Amino acid sequence: MEGGGHDDARVARASVMKVLVLLTGGTLLMSANVDGHYTLEQTFARNLVAEVPALARIAELDAKLVFALDSANMRPREWQVLAREVHAGVASGKYDGIVIVHGTDTMAYSASALALMLGPLPCPVVFTGAQRPLAEARSDAAQNLVDAAIVATLPVPEVVVAFGSRGLRGCRATKRDAWDYDAFDSPNEAPLVKLGIGVERGGHVRAPGVLAPLDDRLEPSVLAVRVFPGLDPRLVTGAVRAGVKGLVLEAYGVGTLPCHEGSLIPAIEEVTALGAPVVVVSQCLRGHVDFTRYEGALLTAKAGAISGGDMTVEAALAKLMIGLGRYGAGDELRAYFARSVVGERTPEASA
Ligand code: ASP
Repeated sequence: MEGGGHDDARVARASVMKVLVLLTGGTLLMSANVDGHYTLEQTFARNLVAEVPALARIAELDAKLVFALDSANMRPREWQVLAREVHAGVASGKYDGIVIVHGTDTMAYSASALALMLGPLPCPVVFTGAQRPLAEARSDAAQNLVDAAIVATLPVPEVVVAFGSRGLRGCRATKRDAWDYDAFDSPNEAPLVKLGIGVERGGHVRAPGVLAPLDDRLEPSVLAVRVFPGLDPRLVTGAVRAGVKGLVLEAYGVGTLPCHEGSLIPAIEEVTALGAPVVVVSQCLRGHVDFTRYEGALLTAKAGAISGGDMTVEAALAKLMIGLGRYGAGDELRAYFARSVVGERTPEASA
């Protein structure tokens, strides 16, 4: 980690930094209604700077309301709209970084999808949100917003999830806690930024890239299936026969699946032959798929499954949708999965 970046130095530079804030909804922007449940009705258009004056000391902010959604209602269609907004903001050259206020429930999916859709970035694109609304006295919202704004002004040209005093690589992040303020983790990647008393930036932050024309094609008809003892393989083949174009199988450990009674191997062969690729990731939070270790994993690879390596399920789903949209189901998709596009996986040795 490289140290430095203390707040006071940042305050002195504030006048020259400019950040675009895209609001999409989520708990941060909600408030409790008369029944006591959180709603976006009254408060989605909050003036963030009026409520968190410290933001103005970090950068000059432009804000735009893109959606007012609980993130449970975000779909691939909304990712595409958001990707266009971000792309336009970055391409304008007006901003040092972009902050996206988003619900926590699907933030890791959106961050993965945007990272993969946008590709190399010249500046940070920082997702944040909160476990409790900004409108409440005891809330993590203000701190997360301030941290996100700071990360947006740092040389961290990646899609980042800024939450709980850390900036995580967005395509490696996962929501791990529905209750604590420290809601996110990136189990297979060290934080890009630590925001403690100092602000430390990891040595593995990607180098700045040149923004490419936006390719927002994707195929949303995919399915993730968590393998469990007794899973009926006919449900897997049935899903593909019903129109599913690709599958992410959350296998055990390093990628094993049942291969004796109730074997999933014929189902993988069948759906692959039907033109629906099967990507295997691990149910475990840490570690990676290794098809060479056990019989069940070896057979899975032989049946035609694609290794998802150490990708999160969120990243694997987004990559499958985007890969299918761009390349279809052939060898190009396999090669796309084997490589690391924006740091979402450790690349396969041969890729
Ligand atoms: N349900 C909310 C959302 O994802 C939860 C949150 O923001 O923390 O929009």
